[in-house]
Amino acid sequence: MKITKIVSFQLDWGEPGRPGAEAYGGRAAFVRVETEDGLFGLGEASPMEGGFVPLTIIARRMAPFLIGKDALDHEVLQEQLLHKLIKLGPEYAVTSAIAALDIAFWDLKGKAFNQPVYKLLGGAWRTAMPCYASIGGNAKRSVDEVLRAVEKRVTKEGVKAVKIRWDADRTNIDLDLPGDIAKARAVRKLLGDDFMLGFDANNAYSVGGAMRVGRVLEELNYDWFEEPVQHYHVSAMGEVAQRLDITVSAGEQTYTLQGVKDLINAGVRMVQPDPIKMGGISGMRQCAALAHAYGVELVPHQTQPSIGHLANMHIMATMMHLAKPVELNSDWERASLVFKNPSEPTNGVLTVPAGPGLGAEYDAAEMERRTIPIA
Ligand code: CA
Repeated sequence: MKITKIVSFQLDWGEPGRPGAEAYGGRAAFVRVETEDGLFGLGEASPMEGGFVPLTIIARRMAPFLIGKDALDHEVLQEQLLHKLIKLGPEYAVTSAIAALDIAFWDLKGKAFNQPVYKLLGGAWRTAMPCYASIGGNAKRSVDEVLRAVEKRVTKEGVKAVKIRWDADRTNIDLDLPGDIAKARAVRKLLGDDFMLGFDANNAYSVGGAMRVGRVLEELNYDWFEEPVQHYHVSAMGEVAQRLDITVSAGEQTYTLQGVKDLINAGVRMVQPDPIKMGGISGMRQCAALAHAYGVELVPHQTQPSIGHLANMHIMATMMHLAKPVELNSDWERASLVFKNPSEPTNGVLTVPAGPGLGAEYDAAEMERRTIPIA
């Protein structure tokens, strides 16, 4: 399966005359890998700042290396690229580029063998999975506004699990602990005792602040407490995890398998690497093996509504121990601008497509119309 062409491009989620803002998630970062037999696979990189950093690395450095190689050798080729370009920084720039390529290669392999990716990975434990509504931007909302935002998502999607995210300014910590606690209490009261709840601090606390909030989350029976302190303070993250009873999670800003191991060794018992930031499907399989070996939970982070989401679903379908739902971010509806099988939940449940590869079905003309090539 000789690779003949690799195109990296942004997909503009905006409207005519109002293009999606690169810096604010208005563009997805995609890659398309084509082979000599006329097949192609689609992959997605993390869309930070429009994803132009990984997309440019793919276009300028990775594509020339890959053209003419065998797509079925992709794990070897990806390791060669990682080690060739590692001085660009394994955090995000190179790892997200490789993640996008890996997803495209798995999509391609699925099409070549006419099987869904989860079959090529050894089979699914389940192809229908509950999702949780991941609801961001709550630092700036009042208690009442938080409740309205939660109600809206729960009513529309029928989910049985919710995560409230803070998304506060990362240069300030412990800004409003009583306010954050009041919102956590109000959401528990609104949804009742049996609802699965996650609290995502988005790195907003000191260790002391995290302990204070974490104790209340334990009292309120929250199911997990995500990224309480800065992600780069790995030992502090581990300290909070070890001192609290509630499950503390982290890892969406971890870009290597070794980084995930460091988090686990520090004391984190639920890791959340992201398939479009590190390793793609192959990388998540390695993380799953690592988490299984240590007996910790792996719950991939994934906020994009189309290709990244489908890749995540195929991965999660193949994981034996899975105690948490699939993440479903807000604005998932925009995927339907291009994709025919968007991430739409039915009574809080998502189904993995059974078509070949990732099973993505889309309007090719609309995809073309929204394409912004990266050279
Ligand atoms: Ca998070």
